[in-house]
Amino acid sequence: MKLIFEKSVPGHGCSILPACDVDSVALPAGLVRETAPALPEMAEMDISRHYTELCKRVHGVNCGFYPLGSCTMKYNPRIDEEMAALPGFTGIHPLAPADTVAGCVEALDTASKYLCEVFGMDDCTFQPAAGAHGEFTGVLLIKKYHESRGEGAQRTKIIVPDSAHGTNPATANMCGYEVVNIASAPNGCVDLDALKAVLGPDTAGLMLTNPNTVGIFDENILEITRLVHEAGGLCYYDGANLNAVMGVVRPGDMGFDCIHSNLHKTFATPHGGGGPGAGAVGCKAHLAQFLPKSAMMDGVEGLQVRSFAGNFLVVIKALTYIMTLGKEGIPEAAKNAVLNANYLQEKIKGTFEPAFDRICMHEFVLDLSRFKKETGVSALDVAKTLIDNGMHPPTMYFPLIVHEALMLEPTETESRETLDEAAAIFRKLYELGYQDPEYMHNAPHNAQIARPDEVRAARNPVVRWAKA
Ligand SMILES: *Cc1c(COP(=O)(O)O)cnc(C)c1O
Repeated sequence: MKLIFEKSVPGHGCSILPACDVDSVALPAGLVRETAPALPEMAEMDISRHYTELCKRVHGVNCGFYPLGSCTMKYNPRIDEEMAALPGFTGIHPLAPADTVAGCVEALDTASKYLCEVFGMDDCTFQPAAGAHGEFTGVLLIKKYHESRGEGAQRTKIIVPDSAHGTNPATANMCGYEVVNIASAPNGCVDLDALKAVLGPDTAGLMLTNPNTVGIFDENILEITRLVHEAGGLCYYDGANLNAVMGVVRPGDMGFDCIHSNLHKTFATPHGGGGPGAGAVGCKAHLAQFLPKSAMMDGVEGLQVRSFAGNFLVVIKALTYIMTLGKEGIPEAAKNAVLNANYLQEKIKGTFEPAFDRICMHEFVLDLSRFKKETGVSALDVAKTLIDNGMHPPTMYFPLIVHEALMLEPTETESRETLDEAAAIFRKLYELGYQDPEYMHNAPHNAQIARPDEVRAARNPVVRWAKA
């Protein structure tokens, strides 16, 4: 497929603006660009065809099943987009005086109030632009807290279990902490003895992804937060994906001091392809004074991690989602997410085996090591063959503690029929592995792009077009 720049033909532009009827004014010399911008020139219909062609080459939630574990690719209701497109929300300027945007301030306040209720926290900020950015903000709150008590220099370590999301150790490191990794117990939960062994006067806190990356809700959660607090540390809850617990249990009630949640996962903003997102951060009262706040909301500027009020329209979508579902709908969505994951896990069982054979939360992990040993077919081969079957592959080779891992998160928005169909495809591919492994090594057979060099793409990304 040609890039839009390659399709451009000089003179084919389709401007329908009327001729300028006011005098033109020359800009100061220093502000005028030296060469005209290299914008593609195309007729409106060709532009439309170009984007339709692009659209057909990608797989989205609107195309088919998208069980990408840890990413919560749920269907995002259209009403959220409609509300976020209201001119009262889109036509404002971030520097507008607060009394001219009172409705927007109220929307932010209301969203904050509702999310605090879901989190079990006392205060909240929407400044962080994504999940990892929210973690960064949350751990800075922990740091500020220890500094304010004169223990900043002493508390240098953040504990991160090996079942955590990869961004957790990265965050602790970026905030200047030493990361202490602890191994999971055989049941996939935090090993309490391993935790006790590393807790001490140098502990700044613990970051816990819960449910963790193998889809398990830690059964000792109250004991974990109690132990960390006893050592003088604080507890951080990675709630990027609150899909299994929202409205059912609250991280604040489990003893956590702060949390982030991805509004672009749990609270229905479409994501993938680079945003925009929002990593809402909630905290208990003892951390609230350190929370970044937008000038628009309270007229003061404390810790700033981003300009203004964050990705405002993402918050509007989340607010719409929460208000549409309501107090009954939020826990119902969570329960259906858990039901769907367990249903799919049970339906696949007997072929590909779960890494942890137990009730899961919103997602589960398959361990394909035995299958690979017997057939030579890898998790990657299975993922690639799924593409030919109209399905987006699950998350692969993650979490790292499971070998040949495929991680599936069906979400609550999929019907039983879709799950049955997906399970049948998984069972079919399991058989195919024994019958025709070669076919699977070479999959996908019907995709636009088969097996890109992912390492090279990550190391040498070419993201800018240049004239040959
Ligand atoms: C997605 C995710 C993150 C990171 O969120 P981003 O918006 O991609 O930065 C962190 N933790 C968990 C558990 C996640 O699923």
